[in-house]
Amino acid sequence: MSYRNRRKTNYGGRRNRFNRNRETRKERDNINYPLCPLCKNQIKELSAAINYRETEEPAHFDCILKAIENSEELASHEKICYLGNGSFGIVRFQKDSSVFPFIIRKRIQYEDPGSLPQWRTKLSKK
Ligand SMILES: [Zn+2]
Repeated sequence: MSYRNRRKTNYGGRRNRFNRNRETRKERDNINYPLCPLCKNQIKELSAAINYRETEEPAHFDCILKAIENSEELASHEKICYLGNGSFGIVRFQKDSSVFPFIIRKRIQYEDPGSLPQWRTKLSKK
């Protein structure tokens, strides 16, 4: 074995050990969770995540909700609510109406109901 080959082997061995350590830490800390593009924190509940349309990445439901709140003009008696199927609504509460305690003033289709983002396809296969 030449000197060059021996050095190569040693280097490879050290690198493998390093990778193994990193792998164990990765499992312990569960770093496999995707990061939310809005708040940069881990998303532990992928099933409750919303597809962030700028990047097609999963984002926290609450972060998307806040983003919509910031982009819409809301009156004090109005609130953003999740209506299902990737759509949100600006709900207006009407104290003086017993027939319609609230109405949906505006519907915001946030996620494209026809498209399935890649991260959710992986999720449904599990
Ligand atoms: Zn977030």
